[in-house]
Amino acid sequence: MVEKRSVSAPPAPAGNPEPRRSVAFIGSECVPYVKTGGLGDVMYALPRELVRMNCDVRVILPRYECIPQKYQEKMTYRGEFYMDLGSTGRRVYIGIMELIDSGVVYDFIDNKEFFSGPKPYYDLVGDIPKFCLFSKAALAALNFLNWIPDIVHCHDWQAALVPVYLRTLFAGTPVGRAKSILTIHNLRFQGIYNIDTIRYWSGLPEYVFTDPALLGQNWLDANLLKGGLAFTDRITTVSPNYAGEIQGWEYGEGLDAHLRFNNRKLRGIVNGIDYETWNPETDPSIPVHYGTKDVLEGKKADKLALQKELGLAEDENKYVIGLISRLTNQKGLDLVNAIVPQVLDDFTQIVVLGTGDSTYEDSFRYYENTYKGQFSACIQYDEARAHRIYAAADSLLVPSRFEPCGLTQLNAMHYGTVPIVRETGGLKDTVQPYNQYENSGNGFTFDRYDAGLLLDAINRSKTMFFTDRERWNDMVLRDMQKDVSWKNSARQYKDLYLELTPW
Ligand code: ADP
Repeated sequence: MVEKRSVSAPPAPAGNPEPRRSVAFIGSECVPYVKTGGLGDVMYALPRELVRMNCDVRVILPRYECIPQKYQEKMTYRGEFYMDLGSTGRRVYIGIMELIDSGVVYDFIDNKEFFSGPKPYYDLVGDIPKFCLFSKAALAALNFLNWIPDIVHCHDWQAALVPVYLRTLFAGTPVGRAKSILTIHNLRFQGIYNIDTIRYWSGLPEYVFTDPALLGQNWLDANLLKGGLAFTDRITTVSPNYAGEIQGWEYGEGLDAHLRFNNRKLRGIVNGIDYETWNPETDPSIPVHYGTKDVLEGKKADKLALQKELGLAEDENKYVIGLISRLTNQKGLDLVNAIVPQVLDDFTQIVVLGTGDSTYEDSFRYYENTYKGQFSACIQYDEARAHRIYAAADSLLVPSRFEPCGLTQLNAMHYGTVPIVRETGGLKDTVQPYNQYENSGNGFTFDRYDAGLLLDAINRSKTMFFTDRERWNDMVLRDMQKDVSWKNSARQYKDLYLELTPW
């Protein structure tokens, strides 16, 4: 029998003066169930913060087979229905599995055929049908559950068809009255495939495959993100600086004209980090806890422990530079590769944690082998080790070619680790360059994408670390005291929801 009833998150505390709004988050990953990058962190932390601001939040995700068993076991069956699969002529099973955590309701869209395998994403051949199905099923599930949100908040190309469905196939249904927001976490990925295939899997009407909607920039393909941007009520991206950059040719990834056309809807809101997950005073993954009062001693102890763990020379006085990143072309790793020999000396160590393109994995392995005891290449995805590196390192490199927001520099600052970043995207919004005249700023920065400038920034940081420790320690404290929580950002999202629903 189909169970069909409306369940909401726990009611807000009595007397909460915040206006109440209901929001459905729709996206392809969310910590702790599935994560490949910053999107997963945002899908976890922002809903929790919004609940504290009197929002009723449901997060809709695919029920991937790769979600760890311990979470699968916690899910309860909420119901099932059958849905037309695009224009394939097939009707497919959609199950809804649910769990509630910290006041947020998580609904997982279940379909074994589409969400199987050990990873959430493969290639577009499989991913296009998967996310066409997911976007449509997410809206159908809201109707089925009879839980109609004020706002549907979608994330990245995987959920970009949601605003398109909302104003076409679902326009006359209950969920059709919701307002929509589409957040761009990374413009590089847009979901581009040939029109016939997308028409087949989405079942969307012919007229949406035109400009300025889904028709791709080459006038041949369909572009899911472009369609979503056209149909959504508001567009956000994850930093104000990136919101400006993507309207220009260099960072626009071919959508700059479309974004300029839609720019009255566009706004940048910087990400935060979750202070429960990221807290050096309580972090279960780090050997020695510390706060602002004992950061200097705490970080030294954590540095010695990490050096031991990774087989580096054990010496608390060495300058340890961390790098935690997906190893892809976006992250400025060719700049790092070019200067490793010049950075390493008897007083400096580098620790890299990441997986990705084999060229970078191999070059970092090469450096580990060549500079034994000075360079460590952890070619793996390891959350706990990431926490230990944030705690132990003196500085963290983020030399990205482009960076919509960036979370690693925020984690680093909160752990008293000085960021060395390229002035691009959210890195520019979140790291104020050191000013030697005022003794202010949070890190070291460089502007052009140039290995020499990265080396210069690293050398400036080294000079301060070795010759002016007092100022270095001031910066460490400023970093730890900087508010990088979700509070400010969640407030801006809430304001945006209220702007769209001004009753
Ligand atoms: P992106 O989303 O482009 O990958 P972000 O800086 O926004 O980059 O987010 C990266 C997140 O993933 C951070 O929380 C970072 O600590 C984490 N991370 C990246 N690589 C690894 C890794 N190899 N092991 C553990 N955590 C990682």
